[in-house]
Amino acid sequence: MNIHEYQAKDILKSYGVRVQAGITADTPDKALAAAKELHQETGTDWYVVKAQIHAGGRGKGKVNETGSNGVVLAKSLNEVPDKVKNILGGTLVTHQTGEEGKIVNKVLIAEDVYYPGDSEPKEYYMSILLDRAKSCNVIMASTEGGMDIEEVAKNTPDKIIREWIDPAVGLQGFQARKVAFALGLEGNAFKEMVKFIFALYKAYVSTDSAMFEINPVLKTSDNKILAVDAKVDIDDNALYRHKDLEELRDLAEEDPAEVEAAQSGLSYVKLDGNVGCMVNGAGLAMATMDIIKLSGGEPANFLDVGGGANPQTVEAGFRIILKDPNVKAILINIFGGIVRCDRVANGVVEAYKSIGNIEVPIIVRLQGTNAEEGAKIIEESGLKVTSAIVLKDAAAKVREVLS
Ligand code: GDP
Ligand code: MN
Repeated sequence: MNIHEYQAKDILKSYGVRVQAGITADTPDKALAAAKELHQETGTDWYVVKAQIHAGGRGKGKVNETGSNGVVLAKSLNEVPDKVKNILGGTLVTHQTGEEGKIVNKVLIAEDVYYPGDSEPKEYYMSILLDRAKSCNVIMASTEGGMDIEEVAKNTPDKIIREWIDPAVGLQGFQARKVAFALGLEGNAFKEMVKFIFALYKAYVSTDSAMFEINPVLKTSDNKILAVDAKVDIDDNALYRHKDLEELRDLAEEDPAEVEAAQSGLSYVKLDGNVGCMVNGAGLAMATMDIIKLSGGEPANFLDVGGGANPQTVEAGFRIILKDPNVKAILINIFGGIVRCDRVANGVVEAYKSIGNIEVPIIVRLQGTNAEEGAKIIEESGLKVTSAIVLKDAAAKVREVLS
């Protein structure tokens, strides 16, 4: 689960990571009030206005309607409302949002921590994430902060520092010092960075996160180390342990089809292809996506209906797949282990009738318990559904309907 920058910063702060003071607003008036409050609190006269969307690249991104960037400076209180007007309610397009962009419902007004006249603000990159291959957490850091880290990794891979942490042992002092040293820090800044890394690691572990990415981490000329930006991915499978974090979910930022799928208990991920698929079991779903590619198509989605496929889940799956206008065919691939194929076949037929007017061809491959009976039900239903028992047939039939 992703959360907004301001929410991530609240979490960071609660674990002792230094962040700049900030207040969110959803109208220009409230933004002005927020700026006044920040002035009272910190004495700052310069503010940064930041669009709150679940995507990075906001600083370089543009709001369609006004041409404003998604992160802008306001060099006085008076400038705040206009800067906010140019962002709020607009559609912000960044390299991470796709062309359609994201609507900005909220902005964060924060004190400008790049001191005016500061000749030496220095930006670093730091993230902590799970390295599945090594069964360890890994700290990634770089002196090339503020940049697109994928580009740094591609063009200058030696500029990325990695330090693996055994989750059972936890972060050790020498490891944090090693990272701070590799970033070229010394004196107070070095000490601050070590503290920063420890606090960040604690936040990451305590929230059961899959990733904390701070880009940039800022070093001010008076050697404060702060998180200026924060991208957090909390492990969905651990959310049941964090009811307070679960409340941070912003459904408006998520793909509507994925939200609907989750409500029906389905794991669905939208992709860009033309063949929709509905499968029971994640492994089989991935194999099915390979089969679709082999047959010359591209998967339009990943959809795992789970072990106990029934008419309700099949219908929910159908409806979600059919919302995607790119879908030219649907491949249903169910292995009847716990669930019987004839039940699934009945489910498909019922769901099909209940939805009505399904134009795209459907290929159903049922294998396992009562596969033959299932195939018979499909064939005799009189619907535009083709049955296949062998996977190779299913692939051939997908190829047929696509050509
Ligand atoms: P992103 O573009 O979505 O990653 O948003 P960031 O929060 O990383 O901000 C983008 C860039 O804006 C940063 O790399 C900084 O250079 C700049 N920036 C962010 N916050 C401030 C601030 O408080 N003051 C100043 N002067 N620049 C900032
Ligand atoms: Mn950033």
